[in-house]
Parts: sequence; C-alpha cells; structure tokens
Amino acid sequence: MHRCAQCGTFNRVGASPAGAAPICGRCKASLDTSGAPQDVTAEAFDKTVAGAPVPVLVDFWAPWCGPCRVAGPIIDALGRAHAGQLAVLKLNADTAPQVLSGLGISGIPTFVVFKGGREVSRKTGLLPAPVLTKWVADTAFR
Ligand SMILES: [Zn+2]
Repeated sequence: MHRCAQCGTFNRVGASPAGAAPICGRCKASLDTSGAPQDVTAEAFDKTVAGAPVPVLVDFWAPWCGPCRVAGPIIDALGRAHAGQLAVLKLNADTAPQVLSGLGISGIPTFVVFKGGREVSRKTGLLPAPVLTKWVADTAFR
C-alpha cells in the first residue's frame, strides 16, 4: 500500500499497464511508490496514523538538528527497503510542537512505530543504521 503524498490516501498498486505511471485512485496525482519518506503536517500525521493499512514509522526531526540530518538517509533507505509495506513520515518538530507534546516527546530525533493507530515502540536519539533497521523489523513487522 502506497500513501499518496498529495491527499494521504493509501493505494494498492497492482500491475499497471505498460508504460503507465501509477496514480492515486482518489486525487489522480502521480503516486510515489519508491517508499521514500513523506513530509507531513500535524493534520496529515493524525489522519495517517489513525487510518494507515500498513505500519507507520515517523521521524520527528528539525532542520537545525545535526543528529536528525545524520539519521535522514538511514530513514530514507529504510522506507525504500520496505516500499509498500511501511509508510515513513517525517514531521518537522518546529511546525507541530503540539504533536510532540501530545506524545510526550522531549528530544529529537525521535522515531515512533505505529500500528493500527497505536504506538508500538519508540526510540529517541541517533542510532546506527543496523540498530534502527533491526528495531523497525522487530516492531513494525513482528
Ligand atoms: Zn491522492
């Protein structure tokens, strides 16, 4: 299931006709099926976490945060490795402080895995790629 970056709808992408790029069934925007992380607003975050048909990994970050920038490519690779099976969101802490305080997040980067609308695990602070990768495998796909 691939999340439409435009409207947030999850789309099941089957075999598309030769040469046809996948598009969103609801808004007809072209669908990014790479698994790359998607930037979300507070509103889109709430909606996605509550309704996602696949596990959701959220990277709470900010542009001024050095460790967040180091974690960025690791999260990007994780999303691409699990394209279609995991939705990876990036929430800029500066734009949505109410979401972080609602979840009790006081430091970034923080990574949270949600399944069925509920938090199942979280990690705060920069972790080596193999540790993050294993954590996602153990929590999102258990
Ligand atoms: Zn759409």
